[in-house]
Amino acid sequence: MGKTIGIDLGTTNTCVAAMLSGKPFVIPSSTGNRLIPSYLAVTPDEKLLVGVRAKRQSITNPKGTVFAAKRLIGRRYDSEEVKIAKEKMPYEIVSGPHGDVRVVCGGRQFSVPEISAAILLEAKSMAEKFLEDDIEGACITVPAYFNESQRQATIDAATIAGLKVLRIINEPTSSAIAYASKRGRKSELIAVYDLGGGTFDISILELGEGVYEVLSTAGDTYLGGQDIDGVIMNHLVEEFLRTNGVDLRQDMMAIQRMRDAVEQAKIDLSVQSEVTISLPFLTETTHGAVHYTHVLTRGKLEELASAMIERTMEICRSAIDRAHIAKENISEVILVGGQTRSPLVIRRVTEFFGKQPNRSINPDEVVAEGASIHAYNIVSPLPSNILVDITALSLGIQTKGGFFTEIVPRNTAIPVTRKRKFTTTYDNQEAVRISVYQGNEKLTKDTELLGEFVLSGIRLAKKGIPNIEVSFDMNGEGILQVTAKDADLGSEQSVVLEAKSGLTNDEIASMRSRMTSLELELKDQ
Ligand code: AMP
Repeated sequence: MGKTIGIDLGTTNTCVAAMLSGKPFVIPSSTGNRLIPSYLAVTPDEKLLVGVRAKRQSITNPKGTVFAAKRLIGRRYDSEEVKIAKEKMPYEIVSGPHGDVRVVCGGRQFSVPEISAAILLEAKSMAEKFLEDDIEGACITVPAYFNESQRQATIDAATIAGLKVLRIINEPTSSAIAYASKRGRKSELIAVYDLGGGTFDISILELGEGVYEVLSTAGDTYLGGQDIDGVIMNHLVEEFLRTNGVDLRQDMMAIQRMRDAVEQAKIDLSVQSEVTISLPFLTETTHGAVHYTHVLTRGKLEELASAMIERTMEICRSAIDRAHIAKENISEVILVGGQTRSPLVIRRVTEFFGKQPNRSINPDEVVAEGASIHAYNIVSPLPSNILVDITALSLGIQTKGGFFTEIVPRNTAIPVTRKRKFTTTYDNQEAVRISVYQGNEKLTKDTELLGEFVLSGIRLAKKGIPNIEVSFDMNGEGILQVTAKDADLGSEQSVVLEAKSGLTNDEIASMRSRMTSLELELKDQ
């Protein structure tokens, strides 16, 4: 029997862990790195690079390097998130054949699951080398707010990488599993505050005897370390424009170098009170080369970042309200994500929750550790932990006027069954279309369409008279069955909704075979 692993497939970094002697263990690369940068690159001589090797060459090859692809996974090309990404990302984003997203990298087009697959492949190959065994399967983590298409696209990425998915689990649940494995068994309420490179989320969980129940979760998909880097960049670029009359935004290489230096300065400011950013030969002006130096203080960094950190506090407030608990009853606050190492975050979290966050857990590794424990439990004959997950997004149907009418509200524990009565909108209406959506907005155009079907043979009557009962059944794995029934006649129609990632099975199969050369290369390294 092969080994199982847990993979935290992150926006910025990916981490892989396995159980060794009954304990979760983070697997290092052959050069000792415990995190894989979530980067893919195509070099000018058309070689594929992943992880640290891809990140290292990103400054000189911005058009041939993709990062933060997790922001695009399972998204439709016409969605708001993709519009934002098109403005923010240095690489080109185009529409795929099914309205999905394709990324142009080094002149080649990649689907987003393919990019994630390359990173998963690196994780799998690191684990195989370290454990000297085959990998039987993996638990892969996703943000709690990921919708069904994003989860399915992550499963597709694993399929392209030739990796069997034991289960997709929510990142905060995974952190809670890792935390619970380190403490004695007791019942308590915990908060998981996760501020990574690209996103923020907060989850409130109740831990019992081997049971993890998520009471609420909330977040912002555009609030993370990279956004803090972004405000510092804007500040420095504007200042450069004022003093040198040169807009660095026109010089891609200069911007890329500055972005790297800014991130490093921000990280250093977590332990130092000031740092000097020094970039010789940053750009050319009419007066010649400019050697850039700038002293950034922790005070200035905190001034620039404070609005973003305050926004995370507002989101914490709303998660606590939705969990219907008192803040004082939270016994532990777990910090996850590299950005939580910053003193400003630690200070504000301490003030907000009225207690010091738990510092005994490594914020970069806890999610992968929890996933490895869960993967091990799934295949081991020992009694496994029970995960009680929730629907982070509401589920409902479209009603007249394009409104999203909720049937299962967000933050409902699954498995769940909910029913709601509807009626017809005109006289002698024979059929109704049931369009099922997922999201937290008021209009369906702002939410995700999961599927549609028609209930025909409705009792002919004046509008508003027929009783149409729509029922939503979601099982513990998150599979949704929707049934519509004419309650008077008893006729019914139902569908099991299969999430669509944007790729067909044939495309996944051909992407899988395209990936094998990279797989062989990673094995040889
Ligand atoms: P993650 O997505 O969890 O890997 O988090 C990556 C983010 O954390 C990036 O934006 C990093 O710049 C940031 N980060 C990593 N280490 C530190 C640190 N020591 N202080 C502040 N931010 C950090």
